[in-house]
Amino acid sequence: MSHFARKLVDKLANKAAPQEEYPQHWPMQVNNEPTQVTIKYTRRNRSIGLKYLQEGWKLYCPQNVSPKKVRSMLQSHHADLQAFIDRHEPKIHNRVQQQENVPLQQGSEFFWLGQKRRIECELAELESGLIKEAQAYLHPKVAFYAEQMQLAPKQIKVKNYKSCWGNCYHRRGLVQFNWKLLQAPEWVVDYVIVHELAHLVHPNHSRDFWSLVQSHYPKTPQAKTYLKQNGGQMMLFLAE
Ligand SMILES: [Zn+2]
Repeated sequence: MSHFARKLVDKLANKAAPQEEYPQHWPMQVNNEPTQVTIKYTRRNRSIGLKYLQEGWKLYCPQNVSPKKVRSMLQSHHADLQAFIDRHEPKIHNRVQQQENVPLQQGSEFFWLGQKRRIECELAELESGLIKEAQAYLHPKVAFYAEQMQLAPKQIKVKNYKSCWGNCYHRRGLVQFNWKLLQAPEWVVDYVIVHELAHLVHPNHSRDFWSLVQSHYPKTPQAKTYLKQNGGQMMLFLAE
């Protein structure tokens, strides 16, 4: 085969081979939730960048390397990138909330079940509307966990608390929740549900209590950390 023919065969073979595509997203954990982080390609350098913009996290990858190389770079830096997000996420969450908190008005943004949402009604109607939503959300969730834990609360209430996320009157079988808790992501809300239900068995914070909570909700330590970092800000929402 002539040199030219060989080259042509190579070229055709290359063409026929399926072109690997550049990844457009990369799976990461944001706020302890699996999230597909969007990738942008830039000409600027050969390293990976990570930035938080209005619409969320963005990865920046070099476009002057092959898709395969991009994937292997992302894989080898995954742990560092994840650690970066974990370190900055609570601060960002707080900052966004602080911006929204003052002054609160129609059109302001707030968090609901970990998602950004806009205030669409009169401020005066907001709290009662959110309490209703919280009730609709919490009732089936509490029923779900109660069944898992083989417990039967008699009554579930949602109200406004100034300094706690929930309450349990174990003799009456009553569990109560602060509607403001629903600013947190679902996995944090779930922890508080399990916590209050566990008080039906242990009306204290004994070692037995915590092991019951932990056995039904393995992400308990992360949820407690989340509330420690964000709870103060969440309590301020719509507080006079
Ligand atoms: Zn408790």
